[in-house]
Amino acid sequence: MNMNLLETPIEYLKGVGPQRGDLLRKELSIHKYGDLLNLYPNRYIDRTRYYKINQLTNSNSEVQIVGKIIHIKTVEQGKGKSRLVATFVDETGQMELVWFQGQKWIRESLKLNVVYVIFGKVTQFGATFNMAHPELELLETHKSSLRSAMQPVYPSTEKLTNKGINSRVISKLMQQLFLETQALFSETLPQSLIDELKLIPKNAALFNIHFPKSQDLLAKAQFRLKFEELFFIQLQLISKNLIRKHKIKGQPFEKVGTNFTNFYNNHLPFELTNAQKKVLKEIRNDLGSHAQMNRLLQGDVGSGKTIVALMCMLLAKDNGFQSCLMAPTEILATQHYNGLIELLNNENKSLNINIKLLTGSTKTSDRKLLHEELENGTLDILIGTHAVLEDKVQFQNLGLAIIDEQHRFGVEQRSKLWRKASIPPHVLVMTATPIPRTLAMSLYGDLDISVIDELPPGRKPIQTVHRYDSHRLQVWKFLKDEIAKGRQIYIVYPLIQESEKMDFKDLMDGYESISRDFPLPTYSVSMVHGKMKPADKEAEMKRFAEGKTNIMIATTVIEVGVNVPNASVMVIESAERFGLSQLHQLRGRVGRGADQSYCILMTGFKLSEDTKTRLETMVRTNDGFEIAEVDLKLRGPGDIMGTQQSGVLNLQIADLVKDRDILQVARHIAIRILKEDPSMSKPEHVKMKEVFIELTKKKNIWNYIS
Ligand code: ADP
Ligand code: MG
Repeated sequence: MNMNLLETPIEYLKGVGPQRGDLLRKELSIHKYGDLLNLYPNRYIDRTRYYKINQLTNSNSEVQIVGKIIHIKTVEQGKGKSRLVATFVDETGQMELVWFQGQKWIRESLKLNVVYVIFGKVTQFGATFNMAHPELELLETHKSSLRSAMQPVYPSTEKLTNKGINSRVISKLMQQLFLETQALFSETLPQSLIDELKLIPKNAALFNIHFPKSQDLLAKAQFRLKFEELFFIQLQLISKNLIRKHKIKGQPFEKVGTNFTNFYNNHLPFELTNAQKKVLKEIRNDLGSHAQMNRLLQGDVGSGKTIVALMCMLLAKDNGFQSCLMAPTEILATQHYNGLIELLNNENKSLNINIKLLTGSTKTSDRKLLHEELENGTLDILIGTHAVLEDKVQFQNLGLAIIDEQHRFGVEQRSKLWRKASIPPHVLVMTATPIPRTLAMSLYGDLDISVIDELPPGRKPIQTVHRYDSHRLQVWKFLKDEIAKGRQIYIVYPLIQESEKMDFKDLMDGYESISRDFPLPTYSVSMVHGKMKPADKEAEMKRFAEGKTNIMIATTVIEVGVNVPNASVMVIESAERFGLSQLHQLRGRVGRGADQSYCILMTGFKLSEDTKTRLETMVRTNDGFEIAEVDLKLRGPGDIMGTQQSGVLNLQIADLVKDRDILQVARHIAIRILKEDPSMSKPEHVKMKEVFIELTKKKNIWNYIS
């Protein structure tokens, strides 16, 4: 219809022109009519209410008042600066209007003793209220204007405001746009869907989002547009997933061979939890099919993901394929390697699996052999860090790639792995940062998701407390008691890039005072931090793991994965400086053995509301998913995923946290439609498909692996 009109460059809109056009492009990425149309208000101001001056409070909120200006003066402020002050009155009292900019022009245009409607934020100075740079309109004009009572507030930038492009100007431009296009915006959703969900038409939605006629219509407009936004995202993610399953052939792991069976029957060190069994089944289904697996395995710290990974790799071996397991740090990779060796080589060594470790510190001579074995196929399992991704590392037939702690690996790295085999390997991404399912669905709609939602039996929930620094003596006493029982202790200091030096000093000071308070020969203290050489770090970790030291002082290098079951107390210093998920990860370092474990969050007295919520949440629950939900609420999804994925979350109107119910519906319907009509070729889907294709062209930001 007038889709083409929406392609018109923005400067052609009456009232824009080249200069404003430039600004709109640079500041708000508005290039075309269509971009402006999709600039939705952040909020709305209710202009149905008029205040009297004697009703004003110091709430700093925006109010609207009817009255007259009875006096204008210029007040010198020194240094050649001045402000313009007008006395504004109604029948209940008087207040001041203040201008700092454009004083000359304003002074000339203000009229004394006529009735104005003023609008703006009021602040109180002593007994007087004042309003700086009010919006000002003659009552007569105000009455006759067609402006809706719910006034939109558009996103803006400092530059735009300085150049006079405020919300009201944008609203005027929007009116002009509706005028020029005659508001003939075409419908994008199938009629049946509109009927089913009782959505208002696209036209009405766009009109009411910009010029709401009532609260009710505004709510309907918002729902409609949020749904549409989420729906098209889901449509893309799900169709991509379907395409992958159809088109991308995977190596079918059809056999359940000797290694898997033997391990399962004879070498499992414990009974698998039901959750582990369930997940293993889901993965085996994928691996057995002819489609390539692309699965996210979520499981809280300590939920037992490693054994699942191992069994998948055994399955690969049984089907004649190599596999690799990547971890984000050397410590972790090494620990995985040692752990797997132990699992595979216990007692009767009937399992014959060749497994090797590749990290930055692997010796050249070892490397050479490793490369050879990889290429001639005698190496079954490769464990490693990013080093695995180097071009020199070539597999004979990589069938399965497992990535631990996915959030540390970028998109690029994943695609590098992908390219290491002629037919794409199956990919299993394991993460201990639980992402609420709704969010995971929208971020990883192209991945299938498995969840280990149960911890191995016999774990005692970790007891968490919050203590102020002033109670340190009591905390130290507690630590000594625990050490006397034979337990070991972590004390963690924050290390945050920006203030690395100061953090480092904190750590060193901490080390000194702890060494003083826990003196040799009764106690011995280890320390690891980022500035140490890997070998030294490794050696310190080893001493602690072997029980030779009582206390491990560390920065967050121990954050991920380290396993020392005898460590039962985690003290987190300056806990207010850690994010919630980080706190939870750190806490997960304890509670791995049979003993009751503790986590002590140390902070100063001054705490923000958010920090209090974080600490309370930690004290209240051990459930990683619950914690992730709170984290999501506090920080917003963009932060949680890191900048890398935040592009996906550049939503125009929907909010993944607040609108998760709409997201559920959108996903459900997208799946249904694609099942019925995978190519979206039914007549009623034509328009929808057009929009879909248009969007796919624009936003392929969720291409993780391609
Ligand atoms: P994560 O999911 O954090 O990687 P791990 O795989 O390291 O967890 O497992 C944590 C600990 O729990 C390990 O010591 C592991 O041996 C143990 N474990 C895993 N599964 C079970 C189970 N089903 N029963 C008992 N212990 C288990
Ligand atoms: Mg792990």
